Amino acid sequence: MEEKDNLIQKTIRIALVGNPNSGKSTIFNILTGGNAHVGNWPGVTVEKKEGRFRYMDFDVIVTDLPGTYSLTPYSVDERIARDFILKEKPDVVVCIADSTNITRNLYLCVLIRELGANAVLDLNMSDLVDGQYKINLKKMEELLHIPVVATSGKKGTGIEELKEAIVKAKADQNEALYINYGGDVEDAIKRIEGMIEHASLPYRKRFIALSLLLGDPQITEEVKNSGLKNGIESAHIEAVNLGKKFSFDIETEIIERRYGFIESIIKHCVEKVSSIEEKISFSEKIDKVVTNRFLGIPIFALFMWITFDLTFKVGGFFADYFEEFFGWFGNILKVWLTHAGAGNVISSFIADGLIGGVGTVVVFLPNILILFLFLSFLEDVGYMARAAFVMDKVMHAIGLPGRAFIPMLLGFGCNVPAVMAARTIPDERDRLLTILINPFMSCTARLPIYVLLTTLFFKNHHPGLVILSLYTLGIFVAILSAKLFRTTISTLKGKVSPLVMELPPYRMPSIKGVWIHTWERGSLFLKKAGTIIFGGVVLVWLLASVPFSQPYASEGTIVGYIGRFVAPILKPAGFGFWQAGVALIFGLLAKETVVGTLGTLFGSEANLSSALLNLFTPLSSYAFMVMSLLYIPCIATIGVIYRETASLKWTVFSVLYSLFVGWIVSVIVYQVGSLVL
Ligand code: GDP
Ligand code: MG
Repeated sequence: MEEKDNLIQKTIRIALVGNPNSGKSTIFNILTGGNAHVGNWPGVTVEKKEGRFRYMDFDVIVTDLPGTYSLTPYSVDERIARDFILKEKPDVVVCIADSTNITRNLYLCVLIRELGANAVLDLNMSDLVDGQYKINLKKMEELLHIPVVATSGKKGTGIEELKEAIVKAKADQNEALYINYGGDVEDAIKRIEGMIEHASLPYRKRFIALSLLLGDPQITEEVKNSGLKNGIESAHIEAVNLGKKFSFDIETEIIERRYGFIESIIKHCVEKVSSIEEKISFSEKIDKVVTNRFLGIPIFALFMWITFDLTFKVGGFFADYFEEFFGWFGNILKVWLTHAGAGNVISSFIADGLIGGVGTVVVFLPNILILFLFLSFLEDVGYMARAAFVMDKVMHAIGLPGRAFIPMLLGFGCNVPAVMAARTIPDERDRLLTILINPFMSCTARLPIYVLLTTLFFKNHHPGLVILSLYTLGIFVAILSAKLFRTTISTLKGKVSPLVMELPPYRMPSIKGVWIHTWERGSLFLKKAGTIIFGGVVLVWLLASVPFSQPYASEGTIVGYIGRFVAPILKPAGFGFWQAGVALIFGLLAKETVVGTLGTLFGSEANLSSALLNLFTPLSSYAFMVMSLLYIPCIATIGVIYRETASLKWTVFSVLYSLFVGWIVSVIVYQVGSLVL
């Protein structure tokens, strides 16, 4: 009997947790000598690695938990890590932190300490910060109430200290870490704690109360099963009341408090040694301004305005030369073709189809290059991550997944890769939501439409703002739609997973890097002009020529019939002439084809401008741009939505929904505009 007790005493079960790439596997291998039993966690395909080592008289059993940033139950990895710590209750949790990114990495350690787990903090990658930072381990131990060691998985240093700390942590049985969340939240926690006093759950009351306050589904379920419905209801009421008090939601408030705690630990314990000090505080200073609660969004809007204004003005400067060239070239070609005795059909194909259609689209290459020059510059400088951070807070505050914003930013380029980028979102509902709202993000293909019409109708009325307003409208419709889906569609209901976001340091981008990004876009555009836009334009030209008895592009041709069929539907939006309908229909091939079609139907530059000036008013041209922005995404996007959702139902839904939204919003713009203006 005595011997058995002794045996249990001498076994220590430990778990390694840490952010991905913090060096967990490396430390695991050093500790266990590479001897691991590899299996899967029950029910999922996440790898489970177990090994053991002897230290002094102890038999230490090590489990390598999946790499995670936090301990919410929203992604599989996070749930496994959390369940293991909460339910299996290892004797010691070893938090492996990457010392080069200490703030972010400490977050997980703080969460584990709040759970009340016995822990050791291992500041790994110490070789990379030696000589740059001096970390006061003793002081950190005092502030976190757990042993803290520094290791290098690369050099194999600090391992003895780590083993010693594990044994010490097992013996210590420390109190849970207490972070003060401020008067209001603390009062709410206390009241909820009162309601759940008799809950028979094996967790700390404070943890349960905090989880209920945050609406954690797993803990809510467990409390419900233990028969304490009141606790859940009171927590819900507390959460709603608190939500009213803050400009952002409680979750954000709590995350900020934790980071505040971490910052203060770092201020106390980490000393910068070398000249990097200046650079870092410079980044921090800028961040204080650009991610400020109140200034963040206006600053983002200002950058975007400058971007679109220059896209329009600088791009337009070059585009003028392009246009002149195509006009001149078209005329020469026409004259030459007539001289050469080419038939009407061939010269019409060349002049109307090629020059009028493809040429009209290619003219916008400079605008696209300038837009992407600015966007890649902002990206490479490190600003876009801040913009995502700011938007994340806003989206999260209104109950939407912040992670959706990165795919949304990508949507400015092209919705196809943006929809695919949603793959990185762990929660299935968040992912579907992100995919469904993405087509509202204004991709490059819409830019030629905006530039064409803005040049004609708003040239002297802040063209940059007009274009910015369309991009903003897209974001706005996307966010509103997400909110709508979230609250009305049962499969999409649920809590949003919070996001801890890492901000890269600011740096001067290389000209080469920016140019490569820009040119990638430009060449994609040219390729598209040569293939799908060309194909679309040829098709339009053909349908506008047949029957040959009718004048080219007249109402009597096939496109005329098609256009006249949809025109009445578009009339309330202010553009009930048949060519608009044809342009929108062929725009489904690729949205640039909207411009290409208009070019083909009206002929080259000069004709096109005068025709559009006759058919549109400034207001109806704006309604048309709104329609082009919002209505059905192009076929490539529809295809990728189908592939990524693997659901015909959602794909059809996406198409019908966007068609409806496009129509209704452009009608509203036109009708309300007619009343006001
Ligand atoms: P995990 O994702 O947490 O399991 O991280 P890994 O153990 O796979 O390590 C990620 C990368 O960091 C690998 O390339 C390791 O070789 C490297 N690495 C791990 N520990 C250290 C360290 O202490 N110093 C340095 N310089 N690199 C390390
Ligand atoms: Mg690993």
